[in-house]
Amino acid sequence: MTLQVQDDSQLNYTVRLMEQLVVATFVVDADCRVVIWNRACERLTGLKASEVIGTREQWRAFYTEPRPCLADLIALGRTGEITAHYDEYDRSGSDAVLSDCYRVRSWIDMPRLGARIYLTADAGPIYDESGKLVAVVETLRDMSVQKEAEAELERLATRDGLTSVANRRSFDETLHAEWRRATREARTLSLLMIDVDFFKPYNDAYGHQGGDECLRQVAGAMSNVVKRSSDAVARYGGEEFAILLPATDPPGACIVAERIRAAVEALRLPHSGSTVADHVTVSIGVASVVVTTEGVPTQLVGAADAALYRAKHEGRNRVVLADSETGPAAQAA
Ligand code: GH3
Ligand code: MG
Ligand code: MG
Repeated sequence: MTLQVQDDSQLNYTVRLMEQLVVATFVVDADCRVVIWNRACERLTGLKASEVIGTREQWRAFYTEPRPCLADLIALGRTGEITAHYDEYDRSGSDAVLSDCYRVRSWIDMPRLGARIYLTADAGPIYDESGKLVAVVETLRDMSVQKEAEAELERLATRDGLTSVANRRSFDETLHAEWRRATREARTLSLLMIDVDFFKPYNDAYGHQGGDECLRQVAGAMSNVVKRSSDAVARYGGEEFAILLPATDPPGACIVAERIRAAVEALRLPHSGSTVADHVTVSIGVASVVVTTEGVPTQLVGAADAALYRAKHEGRNRVVLADSETGPAAQAA
């Protein structure tokens, strides 16, 4: 951007225009001194123009200690440092026409506001006719509401609506990510498949809503046991849950499984339709694998499923570890 100022009145006009802009805007000169700090900027930052105009104290709006702002880094020709200072950085900004524009986004604890906001800052240099940098304009926008809405959407897309644990889609993603990680490090990955015993009779006895409440309670009990990462607990489908345990060997996985079985039993949810107990119980299949490049994640799921099937047939309300004959990818580590 080039600034062509013919006379003082034109300059005054430009300054007044920026003062009234609804977008929070400030301008620093080539020495990083603040020359404009508009009203919207005062409102957004809580810092008054009278406190910063003519100073290099613009950092007070954003930080508790002196630190260059985006505009300062541009004025000082230190744009290489931008990535180190912000959560997100976009070289071209949104506007391809403003090729010199820099955009950053970050959660910032605004010291004057006493609030944490998700700030988007766009800044670009202004040159005189000889190509010398004379100023940098920075605009600020509070994008907290949008960012939180985005996070909520993300949460809704990955959580199961009924139980609030991870949903199937999220589980599949986590399984593939953990599988890749375990392959790199040749680590053990364990999986528990958990199924509520006699859940169809439970629904028949207590109604569908009673069944839903039971699933919520069971999911809650499981999440309390798996403290390392509650995200690893997922609703696999219907009354079936899956828990991924990275870097956990078969004995470790069996201990977690047994705790989960006991935690569900400890809920003492009456179950008149069960033939193995007078309360709600679960059966759990456990499979472990030392992940190698030959295996695929579905083999681990298949092995845990087979172990779950055995747990059902051996009397329910129990934990069964997949045996080493289940397949090459599901051998006990
Ligand atoms: P098993 O001991 O062999 O596991 O028998 P089961 O009755 O638990 O197994 P089955 O697969 O025959 O029945 C599962 C039942 O779970 C059937 C289905 O109506 C019920 N179910 C699945 N999803 C939900 C849900 O979201 N809410 C409720 N209330 N019930 C569900
Ligand atoms: Mg069942
Ligand atoms: Mg089932």
